[in-house]
Amino acid sequence: MASAYDVVVIGSGPGGEGAAMKLSKQGLSVAVVEMQNQVGGNCTHKGTIPSKALRHAIQLLADYRHHPLFEHTLSVMDVTWPMLLRNSEQVIAQQVSMRHRFYTRNRVDIFHGQARFADANTVEVTASTGDVQQISADKVVIATGSRPYRPPNVEFSSPHVVDSDTVLELDHTPRRVTIYGAGVIGCEYASIFANLDVKVNLVNTRDRLLSFLDDEITDALSYHLRDQGVVIMHNESMQEVVEDDKGVVLRCRSGKEIRSDLLFWANGRSGNTELLGLDEIGVAVNQRGQIEVNERFQSSQEHIYAVGDVVGPPALASASYDQGRFVAHLIGQGEVDWKLIDEVPAGIYTSPEISSIGRTERELTDQNVPYEVGRAEFKNLARAQIGGRSVGMLKLLFHRESLQLLGIHCFGEQASEIVHIGQAIMAQQGEANTISYFAETTFNYPTMAEAYRVAALYGLNRIS
Ligand SMILES: Cc1cc2nc3c(=O)[nH]c(=O)nc-3n(C[C@H](O)[C@H](O)[C@H](O)COP(=O)(O)OP(=O)(O)OC[C@H]3O[C@@H](n4cnc5c(N)ncnc54)[C@H](O)[C@@H]3O)c2cc1C
Repeated sequence: MASAYDVVVIGSGPGGEGAAMKLSKQGLSVAVVEMQNQVGGNCTHKGTIPSKALRHAIQLLADYRHHPLFEHTLSVMDVTWPMLLRNSEQVIAQQVSMRHRFYTRNRVDIFHGQARFADANTVEVTASTGDVQQISADKVVIATGSRPYRPPNVEFSSPHVVDSDTVLELDHTPRRVTIYGAGVIGCEYASIFANLDVKVNLVNTRDRLLSFLDDEITDALSYHLRDQGVVIMHNESMQEVVEDDKGVVLRCRSGKEIRSDLLFWANGRSGNTELLGLDEIGVAVNQRGQIEVNERFQSSQEHIYAVGDVVGPPALASASYDQGRFVAHLIGQGEVDWKLIDEVPAGIYTSPEISSIGRTERELTDQNVPYEVGRAEFKNLARAQIGGRSVGMLKLLFHRESLQLLGIHCFGEQASEIVHIGQAIMAQQGEANTISYFAETTFNYPTMAEAYRVAALYGLNRIS
C-alpha cells in the first residue's frame, strides 16, 4: 500500500525546502524524498555552504597574512586544505540540524532514498538498504538540483582531476591548480585557491570573465585576480587532458599546454533528472537534463511542478528557495497575486566580492536609454579606511530625466549585502524609485551603506 499525501517533494535543497515548508503551513500533507542521508541538498553539502565557509576561512587567513601586526608569526602558520574542509563541515552540521528541525516542527515526513516515478501520481523510494516504499500524491514538486557536467573524455576518477563536488574530498593542498571554466564557480574557486597561495591558471572559454556583469566590474575582477597571481586565459577550449606521474596537462585547441598538479573542471552543470523515470510519465527534459516548465513552474504534466537548478537559470540557492515557495502558493491557493521578480540579484563571492542587480551600462547603451552614472570609491569611505578594505566601488546607473534607478553594480567589502539597499529603492513603483532618496536621507556614519549617498551626490552633480 502506498502512503498517500497531498504533495510529494523530491529533493531537500532550497527549492524543495521552500516548497515543503509553505505547503505544510497551508495545511497540506507533505512528504519529502531525499537520496542523501541528510537534508539540505547540494546547496548545504556540496555547493553554496561549503564554498562560502571555505572562502570565509581563507579570507581570514589572507587578511592575517597581509596584516603587518602578524608578520612575525607567519612562519608558524600552516593551514592546509583538509583543515579548511574540516572547518566548513562544522557549518554544514549546523545547517543540517537547523533544517532538519524545520521539517519535524512542520510535520513534514522525510523519506531517505532515491525517488523514481512508478506512475504519474506515485513515487517509488529505494532506500540505501534496498527497501522500496511507494508514496502517492495529487501533486509532485521536483527539486532535484544539478551536478557538475562531466565530459566523457575527461577521467574524473583520477586523483588529479576534481570538480566542485570532489574538491571537497581533496586530502592535500595542491601547489598548482588549473581551473577550466571561468563562470561564477570557477572565479570563486580561483580566488579561494589564490588566497591560499596556490598558483592558479583560470582558463576561460569566453572572451571576458562573467560577461553578464557590468564591464567595469569584470575589468576590476580581472585586475584583482591577476594581482593575486591568477593567470587568466581567455577564448581557450579543451582539446584533451593528459596525465603523467608529475600531474596533469590541459591541452587547448590553441596549442597551449597548461601543466598543474590539479585540474578543476568547472564547465557546466546538468539537471538531476536521469534517475526519475520522467520519460515514462511524459515529462519533457532538454539536452542538459533540465525540466521544461511554464511560468507557473508546471512541467508538461500539469500536476508535476519543477523548481530550482533542475529547471536551469538562474540556478541560485536564493532563487530556488523563492521558486519553491511560489509553487507551494500556487498549489495551495490556485491563483496568487505574487509574481516572482524578473531581476534576481547576483552575489559572487570572489575576492573582491561582487554583487549586482538591474541593467548594465552596455545594456542601457544598446537600448538607447539616457542614463547617468553615480559612483563611490570605497577608498574614500571612512568605514572602508578603518577596516582596511579600500578596494571596491558602488556604481549606480540612473535615468537622466526621471532619476529612476536602473542598475546597481558593486564590488568590494560587503558588496552582496550593500546591493540590497538599492534593490529596495529600485523595486519601488513610479516616482518612489529615485536616486534622490539616497541624497536626501541620513545614513549611519561610518558605514559602507554611506556609499549610496556618495554615489548619488556624484551622479546628481553630473546632471546639474
Ligand atoms: C560551488 C558552488 C557554489 C555556489 N554558490 C552559491 C551562492 O553563493 N549563492 C547561491 O545563491 N547559489 C550558489 N550556488 C548554487 C546553489 O547551490 C544551487 O542553486 C542550489 O543548491 C539549488 O537548489 P535546489 O533546491 O534546486 O537543489 P540542490 O541544492 O541541488 O538539492 C537537490 C537535492 O535533491 C536530491 N536528489 C536528486 N535526485 C534525487 C532523486 N532521484 N531522489 C531523491 N533525491 C534526489 C539531491 O540529493 C539533493 O539533496 C552554488 C553552487 C555551487 C556548485
